[in-house]
Amino acid sequence: MAKITFLGSCREVGRSAIQVESKNGDKFLLDYGIRFREEERLPQKSDLTQLKGVALTHCHVDHSGALPYLYLHGKSPPLFTNGLTLDIIDNLIKDTLKISKYPYPFGLKEIDNMKRNAYLLPIRARKKVSDNFYITFYDAGHVPGSVSILLEVDGKKILYTGDFNTKKTNLVDSANPLDIPDIDAVIVESTYALREHPPRDQLEQRFVEDVIEITQNGGTVLVPAFAVARSQEAIMILNRHRYREKVFLDGMGKLIAKIYFDYPEALKNRHFYRKALRNVDFVSRRKKRSVARKSTGVIVTTSGMLKGGAALEYIETILNDPYSAIYLVGYQVEGTPGRDLLDTGVFRFRENDRQRKTGYDINIKAQCEVDYYDFSSHADGKGLHTYMDNLTFSNGSKEVFCVHGDSDSTTKFASELVAKGFNSVAPETGETYVI
Ligand SMILES: [Zn+2]
Ligand SMILES: [Zn+2]
Repeated sequence: MAKITFLGSCREVGRSAIQVESKNGDKFLLDYGIRFREEERLPQKSDLTQLKGVALTHCHVDHSGALPYLYLHGKSPPLFTNGLTLDIIDNLIKDTLKISKYPYPFGLKEIDNMKRNAYLLPIRARKKVSDNFYITFYDAGHVPGSVSILLEVDGKKILYTGDFNTKKTNLVDSANPLDIPDIDAVIVESTYALREHPPRDQLEQRFVEDVIEITQNGGTVLVPAFAVARSQEAIMILNRHRYREKVFLDGMGKLIAKIYFDYPEALKNRHFYRKALRNVDFVSRRKKRSVARKSTGVIVTTSGMLKGGAALEYIETILNDPYSAIYLVGYQVEGTPGRDLLDTGVFRFRENDRQRKTGYDINIKAQCEVDYYDFSSHADGKGLHTYMDNLTFSNGSKEVFCVHGDSDSTTKFASELVAKGFNSVAPETGETYVI
């Protein structure tokens, strides 16, 4: 018997945190992330006195951001992850604390404590955590270093997919459900359960053709991209399709790109990665930004939804230039400046972060071209179904918990699975299920 309690990521994307309890009351956590809303950013509170450890699927802060909370007052549960993910969360969580106005109840001391208690676990190595818990990591294909976790507790096998992709990208291979042994239950992400992504090859082709057209006419293409994986992926796409003009990389993506160099085993093709990044200009100083701004070429930079970051250094110049373009390459959440720009053609930005020296307040109608390319690193509806159809269950109950998606996506995905004979639900925050 095992008790699964959902502390977050229920009918929403954010604060992924799942608690599993064994017969004798020992507990284990799968992910411990944050969400970006003013109230309740951390996972729902729970009694963690018998916590035996926590395992992390990947670096994104909606999965990792609250981990330091588990290390308050010198507490020391083992954190199971890999070297790449640990290096990245060290930077991402510190960055989150630095730029946030929200008073997170932990700081650098807890991050250090967390790092000291990290246990690096290779892929497919079964690890005994305590008398009750065993864990095994499987590739998830979402970003470099991402894993799905198989948790064995009191004879039950629970698969937690984390974020995963069923299509390969230039950076990583796809997740393969056939790798996973027989299970009793699965906790599955549902981000794009109601959407289908366009065919990847065609999309890459269209993106590069559009970039070439702009730069051949003397324009500059600004590619706002997430620091983790998407910035590097965009550069690899340009390289794979033999784009020959200048490519600049700015923002946090530079640091992540360097970390990837240290973990070549986490990449699908380390040689291709090195080749693609070799000719990229890492923008290091303000002076160089003015060079990039005036260059015919591509500037890949954070933030992916234009909420801040180095993109702001370029955006006014690009917006005012009818020969240039802004190509968004990641999902744009409603209410973000990126989404607004895409929907209305106007870029609105209000900067009142006290951490910054100068305040930005921008409201510009785009003269440049604006477009969106859906380079997702999540499985789409078809991918999610194929993945589920290829899992094998040890008994007839086929228990499925749909998380990490909005209300519509999680509940509709759960009912689609019910129609196919799964015993599936979209849990609500705080609910406990016994399997
Ligand atoms: Zn993710
Ligand atoms: Zn996520």
